[in-house]
Amino acid sequence: MATPALGGFNAAMFITLQRDLKSTPLPVTDDPRWTRIVARDKSADGQFWYSVATTGVYCRPSCPSRRANPGNVQLHDTLAQAKATGFRACLRCNPDGPSPEAGNAAMVAKACRFIEQSEEEPSLAELAAAASRSAGYFHRVFKAITGLTPKDYAAAHRAARVRQGLEDGASVTVAIYDAGFNSSGRFYEKSTGMLGMTPTRYRAGGAHEDIRFAVGETSLGAILVASSRKGVASILLGDDPDALVRDLQDRFPKARLIGGDRDYEAQVARVVGFVEAPRLGLDLPLDVRGTAFQQRVWQALRDIPAGSTVSYAEIAGRIGAPRATRAIAAACAANAHAVAIPCHRVIRKDGALSGYAWGAERKRALLDREAVSGDRSSRV
Ligand SMILES: [Zn+2]
Repeated sequence: MATPALGGFNAAMFITLQRDLKSTPLPVTDDPRWTRIVARDKSADGQFWYSVATTGVYCRPSCPSRRANPGNVQLHDTLAQAKATGFRACLRCNPDGPSPEAGNAAMVAKACRFIEQSEEEPSLAELAAAASRSAGYFHRVFKAITGLTPKDYAAAHRAARVRQGLEDGASVTVAIYDAGFNSSGRFYEKSTGMLGMTPTRYRAGGAHEDIRFAVGETSLGAILVASSRKGVASILLGDDPDALVRDLQDRFPKARLIGGDRDYEAQVARVVGFVEAPRLGLDLPLDVRGTAFQQRVWQALRDIPAGSTVSYAEIAGRIGAPRATRAIAAACAANAHAVAIPCHRVIRKDGALSGYAWGAERKRALLDREAVSGDRSSRV
């Protein structure tokens, strides 16, 4: 009967009950909440309220008003209980509204969204005006809450947006078209039917895959090295690093492209060293993707020793497809591994250099370099 009701009964409740019966409350100073009022502890705001009988107001714990005599203070667990006293809300700490802290946090959050959504970085004066605060006050509060000045916050947001753009394939594709860049697209248009598959199928590669990449500099110009889990997936050469990134995006349109970190830069350095001196060989696995035909062509290219050249017709003979000269030229053009798959060592039958996906000048430079170093090594 009485037992279940007493289930949760404890000594503190018993004391409270006794106190209520006697109508002699414990002194407020014995309550740990009083020390938080004395400390004007902002973190206590919203957890309890107090009222002061002599002034007839109720307050939040952090109220900056002169401290009340604890003998006149009553503590309340809820705002409703504080209001039930019939006292009025303190004008200084505004216990009914959001705390000044929460108000400032909301103001700063709103300013952050404003910065993020603005095309141009808003000035401090604009931000302060939008928050109905002075520039000095706004700046101080913004820094206190975010740890950054509004200007630094805007810069950090821009950097994050660029990173996101590189990690988000769709954004980069949009960026390519926004930039009016379409040379890789034209390449694919011209190569349709010569690639041995449709550009669409070719582009399907890289779906849901992480491709790390980094851009560097060689004596042949800019270089982009990209790797999948399996190995080096692309070595691209060119004049414009941005164009190389767009080229990579075209080759792996569905992959997540991730800018290389410090560890990856070390791998890139090895590839750069190899491009400078191809005879050293590249001791990194390659991730080679293409049709069975392309794979055969590329393997035949890798068998051409540095310092020598062969014709497209010879490659055709070596892979047992003597009439596929044009398809072989297309496979060379689709090669994603500059130097490592040495398509630069394939020339026309009459000795003319013929084309090179990364520019005829680079092809000549590579062949000259290999011929010279070949002479040297044969002398040794
Ligand atoms: Zn107050």
